[in-house]
Amino acid sequence: MNKEKRTEIFSRLRDANPNPTTELNYSTPFELLIAVILSAQATDVGVNKATDKLFPVANTPEAILALGVDGLKEYIKTIGLFNSKAENVIKTCRILIEKHGSEVPARREDLEALPGVGRKTANVVLNTAFRQPAMAVDTHIFRVSNRTGIAPGKNVLEVEKRLLRLVPKEFLMDAHHWLILHGRYTCTARKPKCGACIIEDLCEFKQKRDYQ
Ligand code: SF4
Repeated sequence: MNKEKRTEIFSRLRDANPNPTTELNYSTPFELLIAVILSAQATDVGVNKATDKLFPVANTPEAILALGVDGLKEYIKTIGLFNSKAENVIKTCRILIEKHGSEVPARREDLEALPGVGRKTANVVLNTAFRQPAMAVDTHIFRVSNRTGIAPGKNVLEVEKRLLRLVPKEFLMDAHHWLILHGRYTCTARKPKCGACIIEDLCEFKQKRDYQ
């Protein structure tokens, strides 16, 4: 795919949604970090249901630590893998208090050292909370990048590196939100809605289908 096409794709995605953001509910970097940890293999809707009750009661490392693992589980028990997530969140809160003055660090190495935080979670926090041009490649971004030809790659790291290199600078900050939303609602895994897709004429996918 050439640069002109990529620029046109992101121009259209931006025109359709000028201020994209995560669908997770949060109001501070700490809330975002906890929501993203909880969202592994879970839906944003499911996480929001839990955090809508948790955050009014506890939205600081100290307050969540005070709940303890069992207290926290009561709020997040509807989310998959809640046992291990509760353990990780409590350990993360303790580290934030002891090493980072109760703040969420804005450095990748510090984020990835937190229990339950991998490269993808760190990328979401760096991009969404700290507005750094990081690219959190999830299943939607991986699929859309490969199908369209925007940034094909065999694995998520390859796609992440290509996107960072190939997405035109002016779109880099918000590209990951546009790609996630496009994959979640239009370029869906099994039934892409190619007939209703605003980048259909630019997309290089060879098996376009319309499952509208
Ligand atoms: S045309 Fe189809 S395959 Fe291409 S991006 Fe749109 S929905 Fe996805």
